[in-house]
Amino acid sequence: MDTIQRYRIGNATVTRVTELILPEVPSDFLFPDRDRTILTHDRPHWIGSENTSADGKNLALSVHSWIVQTGRHTILIDTGAGNGKSRPLNPLFHRLDTPYLERLAAAGVKPADVDFVLITHLHVDHVGWNTVHDGSRWVPTFPNARYVFSDAEYRFYADERHVQTPSAGVFADSVQPVVDAGQALLIDAENQQPVDGFTFHKTRGHSFDHLSIGLVSGGEHGLFSGDVMHHPVQVAQPGWNSVFCEFQDDARRSRLWALNFAADNRATFFSSHFPGTSAGVVERHDGGFVWIPR
Ligand SMILES: [Zn+2]
Repeated sequence: MDTIQRYRIGNATVTRVTELILPEVPSDFLFPDRDRTILTHDRPHWIGSENTSADGKNLALSVHSWIVQTGRHTILIDTGAGNGKSRPLNPLFHRLDTPYLERLAAAGVKPADVDFVLITHLHVDHVGWNTVHDGSRWVPTFPNARYVFSDAEYRFYADERHVQTPSAGVFADSVQPVVDAGQALLIDAENQQPVDGFTFHKTRGHSFDHLSIGLVSGGEHGLFSGDVMHHPVQVAQPGWNSVFCEFQDDARRSRLWALNFAADNRATFFSSHFPGTSAGVVERHDGGFVWIPR
């Protein structure tokens, strides 16, 4: 498996660190109640075989982090599902044992090197490597990092009645320990942009206060989208929410915002779950959008 992908955005280097590849996610599970013929009969050429089985019944997804090295800072964006986390209600992520930290090291980054961990939202597959178990408790994986995430998102999911089943247990083992260690920087993205070169954009919908994260360097743009989309088919069908989107109308609005932002700024779109390289460019075509993998 090729686990290292590198890109340049101006003076910054962006590298993917793979945690998991999920090769066969049923499309009728991820996108229920949709006319999915676009995956079979009308499939755009840019949704290639790395994205879907020929019959459209199974979709590939990736779970990964992005490392951004700006010359000044080492930044990790989203932290996968983590090792050893008890997720009995979510078998895909239950008690994982992946070589994620070894892959991070292969990309040239040790945990102590990370200056900032930027988190798009507090779902199970985005915060897991926030913490590791030290034998007695969960402690921050990145001892020198500030972990930046939404204060509103944090307060909403602190109430466990708001936590959807796939993310049960996440707050206690992967979010609160970072706050307790004094390493969290909880922000209101409307008013606070604490990391040079990065802009947090409120893209509510998939989760309560989901953020997409823009990077500008040397006049070039990147967009770390979080989960405004899960799969390239949503570039062709921006109205499709995934089964994991919590606030339906807002999720559709935020997806269109992200597609327009990427197209307007010719931003490299760094997705959270697209298979293949997971990165690409969005262009307008025929009143819609197309995806050009990078
Ligand atoms: Zn996700």
